[in-house]
Amino acid sequence: MSHGQRQPNPHGLSDLRRDDDPTGRPSAFEPAAGRGVPAWLAASLNHCSRCGAALRLGPLPGEDRERLACEACGYIAYVNPRLVVTTLPITDDGEVVLLRRGIEPGRGLWAQPGGFMEIDETVQEGAVRETLEETGLVVEPREIVGLYTRPEAAIVVVAFVARIVGGAPVATPEALEVRPFAPGAIPWPEIAFRTTEWALRDWLRRVSPDLDEEHR
Ligand SMILES: [Zn+2]
Repeated sequence: MSHGQRQPNPHGLSDLRRDDDPTGRPSAFEPAAGRGVPAWLAASLNHCSRCGAALRLGPLPGEDRERLACEACGYIAYVNPRLVVTTLPITDDGEVVLLRRGIEPGRGLWAQPGGFMEIDETVQEGAVRETLEETGLVVEPREIVGLYTRPEAAIVVVAFVARIVGGAPVATPEALEVRPFAPGAIPWPEIAFRTTEWALRDWLRRVSPDLDEEHR
């Protein structure tokens, strides 16, 4: 996924599986309430984007949590997650196309194509655009296989199952290798992101419910 490639986000790496807290099993459904803004993101929110004065974190009338607000002009800097649009492109043989990432985070590891949704496109348009940019494949997004929250990375990831309708797999500096994997041959130890792992497992539960646990 092109997390941060067009919008550099060097500290927001915690969607990487290797960044997980080894003492706890992370879950897409784990309550995140009360953790506040991730430190790497808070570090970039120092000044009011309207007037340039300093932002201050504190209670505000009518707000149910502390907010970053500008003391000079009253602007409230709400901090919300961003949507990452991704696809699992499926070949006619029922294999899923992944790419080996050429850039950090997760360089050298496998992920599905995807990236940040732009402000002037639909979720499906974003998924199609990112998939084409990163793999050379033209896809038609179908059903949503899952929607995953990673509060530490300030992202929500949507993953569509997608039919490949054109194009051809192409390697780029972003994607060192683009290739399909059979349901029983997913390179689990080399999957870059926790959200990629969740999406692949949810897809496998649909297409190969009889695959035994060790293969998924
Ligand atoms: Zn201001």
